[in-house]
Amino acid sequence: MNVLVINAGSSSLKYQLMDPETGAVSAKGLCERIAIDGRLTHKFADKKIEREIPMPTHSEAISAVLEILVDPEYGVIHSVDEIDAVGHRVLHGGMKFSDSCIVDDACIEAIEACIPLGPLHNPANLMGIRACQAVMPNTPQVAVFDTAFHMTMPPKAYRYAIPTAYYENDDIRRYGFHGTSHKYIARRMAEILGKKDFKMVNCHLGNGSSLCAIENGACRDTSMGLSPLAGVPMGTRSGDIDPCVVQFICNKYGMSVDDCLTMLNKKSGMLGMSGVSSDFRDLEAGANAGNTDCRLALDKFCYEVAKYVGAYAAALNGIDVLTFTAGVGENGPTTRAAVCEYLGFMGVKLDPEKNNTRGKEALISAPDSSVQVWVIPTNEELMIAQDTRDLVNAAKK
Ligand code: ADP
Repeated sequence: MNVLVINAGSSSLKYQLMDPETGAVSAKGLCERIAIDGRLTHKFADKKIEREIPMPTHSEAISAVLEILVDPEYGVIHSVDEIDAVGHRVLHGGMKFSDSCIVDDACIEAIEACIPLGPLHNPANLMGIRACQAVMPNTPQVAVFDTAFHMTMPPKAYRYAIPTAYYENDDIRRYGFHGTSHKYIARRMAEILGKKDFKMVNCHLGNGSSLCAIENGACRDTSMGLSPLAGVPMGTRSGDIDPCVVQFICNKYGMSVDDCLTMLNKKSGMLGMSGVSSDFRDLEAGANAGNTDCRLALDKFCYEVAKYVGAYAAALNGIDVLTFTAGVGENGPTTRAAVCEYLGFMGVKLDPEKNNTRGKEALISAPDSSVQVWVIPTNEELMIAQDTRDLVNAAKK
């Protein structure tokens, strides 16, 4: 089966053509500068080509992707009919989606209704869906939500301690994000252990970071909230912060709430604290060269991640497994070691040699650690392709 996985942003669109059975990716690429001019970067086998193609809207971007996929020289399929289904990443499913869904009118309406919750991403995701419907009307499409995996949280985890009317009238609650990644890691861990009944905390540490408390394969709590701004500090996001900070800054500098939130989303976190970079490689280089701001940013990050692991271990009444994934989680032995150092009190013990690994699935805890610690590379595209396959096959029956 060939599934085209689409991740549409406001001016970009990433794609992968993959086999959900094997995870093999036959081609992938990126459309950039949509609505500005348009550039396609396409990779297959060990080749990469770049083309300037006018992309006034997402429709032209999708058409360019389909054209290159069937190109006799650069393509990997002979006809668009060889694409069996399309899987779309959608940011916010609100309370309407606890699972992926086949795209139909009701699904599109529900994604539209979630726009107030995901004002930056949902409109772009919808443009990707509509563009595919226009150019490949007979191919089934599936929407996979970043929030869906978290819908099993109990009310005590997802409700904010504010007047109930804001929840009942306005759907204000914790939703959580990176759900596709957390779900993938939970499933992979269950495969590795050959059982489902265990408790784990997954640390998705990348440019955006979130942690998830998972019991028997289901989410019980997660660190992001109504928006991805909440939780641990990130590349450019502040993470959890006292709302009075916003009031103080807005009053003192005559800033609007929206501008202050932009500062918290784009200029804070590792970038804001270090004044150097949001990239952990730059921060590690800076810290090693004696930059104390870089060192503090890294220390703050590991401290906050460890605090969340501790909180979730308490929420789950103990954990069996701790997993690290995404850019920093997969490639940052120093970060993993610093986080685990705080967790010695609960019997977490790394094997320093095994921890010295990057980008590969590995058990990195010592044999006598009371919690197994793993590095598991995430694969959100594969999760999207598999959900797409499952729903499309079920609809055929
Ligand atoms: P995104 O949230 O954009 O998907 P990623 O999961 O790709 O982000 O993570 C990006 C982060 O991963 C960057 O801060 C980068 O520095 C970090 N990273 C990638 N490779 C390494 C590495 N070899 N060592 C340390 N950090 C790394």
